[in-house]
Amino acid sequence: MVRSLEENKKVVIVGIPGVGKTTLISKIVEILKEKQKNVSVYSFGTVMLEEAKNEGIADRDELRKLSVDRQKHFQIMAATKIALKTNDVVIIDTHAFINTNEGFHPGLPLYVIDLLKPTNFISISARPEEIYNRRMKDGTRNRDIISLASIKKELAVQDAMLSSCSVLSGSPMKPVLNREGKIDETAMKVIKAMGI
Ligand code: ATP
Ligand code: MG
Repeated sequence: MVRSLEENKKVVIVGIPGVGKTTLISKIVEILKEKQKNVSVYSFGTVMLEEAKNEGIADRDELRKLSVDRQKHFQIMAATKIALKTNDVVIIDTHAFINTNEGFHPGLPLYVIDLLKPTNFISISARPEEIYNRRMKDGTRNRDIISLASIKKELAVQDAMLSSCSVLSGSPMKPVLNREGKIDETAMKVIKAMGI
């Protein structure tokens, strides 16, 4: 598919918990606003929850425990809503997968990609030791504590899942390393990958 340079960007940014997505996206938005770009950010999970609340679901925990079919329904509702946004740059903050008892549940199955039509996939990673320390230090969040070995495995699965999204959609995937204390530099790399 050939895209014109003027086309709006729909940029999917994934990363395992604690890799620094939210911090990085705030910096990216700051830089893009300085460049007079009209940018919006959606956390896919938050949009799903908003849709679920309209149908009587109380909170994230109740959403997480619904049947796979019901969750799929809310995934589709969220993707449909985000797909309608017309900003110059629409950033989607999400996860390549969600850890479940059944295994890795894809955050971006084909039916979501078909609705969202992302122009770019960005996979944020960081050194496993840094992710581990960030999860431990971040007092604002109630994060699952996992081992360094599981973090390494999750990083590998993340790139494998995102590669499939790239192949299926025909949109490029860019892996970006979020180095400790280098948020500005990392944000610039992501913006460059967006072609802005
Ligand atoms: P989640 O998927 O759980 O929402 P996240 O990927 O959005 O996680 P953040 O909340 O952005 O992660 O970051 C986790 C912690 O790491 C925060 O305390 C943040 O300040 C810190 N952090 C992120 N990037 C860097 C960096 N490059 N250098 C130092 N600290 C960082
Ligand atoms: Mg976050």
